[in-house]
Amino acid sequence: EWVNFVNFYHRIIDRFEMAKEQNVTFSRKLPDYAIFVEIDEDKMTQVLYNIISNALKYSPEGGQVTFSIKEEEDKIIVSVSDQGVGIPKENIGKIFDRFYRVDKARTRKLGGTGLGLAIAKEMVNVHGGAIWVTSKEGKGTKISFSLPYERSEEDEWS
Ligand code: ATP
Ligand code: MG
Repeated sequence: EWVNFVNFYHRIIDRFEMAKEQNVTFSRKLPDYAIFVEIDEDKMTQVLYNIISNALKYSPEGGQVTFSIKEEEDKIIVSVSDQGVGIPKENIGKIFDRFYRVDKARTRKLGGTGLGLAIAKEMVNVHGGAIWVTSKEGKGTKISFSLPYERSEEDEWS
């Protein structure tokens, strides 16, 4: 169905913000106007849930998680970035694989099955988008995905 993605994203972030028990600050860099995209809300909720859960799980005390949406000509880019442990360069290519977890004591003790990002990738692909990561060990991680988007004249009116 057609959804105003900005509101949709806000609602999901709200839920995490109310439930979080860690000392982590949320920062939203979202447009103040509507962006309509055609998505399956349940699947997209799962995508964001998996990505945001990771951002919190791997964030340090006092860290900041930043949420953004960028508009491009024929797509929007949705991102979640954190100031957490980051991902070593040699492991970056594998984090979207099923059951893959960066094998370090730091992540082992946090638990998980290694399916979250594999599922997110599958769901983003179903929507005709792509998902990728940029990360620096010890600095943080940014997960971004694209969603096809057709800017119509109606959008400029809303
Ligand atoms: P699950 O999501 O199934 O509970 P998981 O979080 O370990 O388990 P994924 O979400 O698929 O699995 O992530 C795969 C691996 O990628 C993680 O184990 C972790 O090593 C690394 N990773 C993912 N997101 C981040 C992040 N924001 N910061 C640092 N490492 C990350
Ligand atoms: Mg996960």
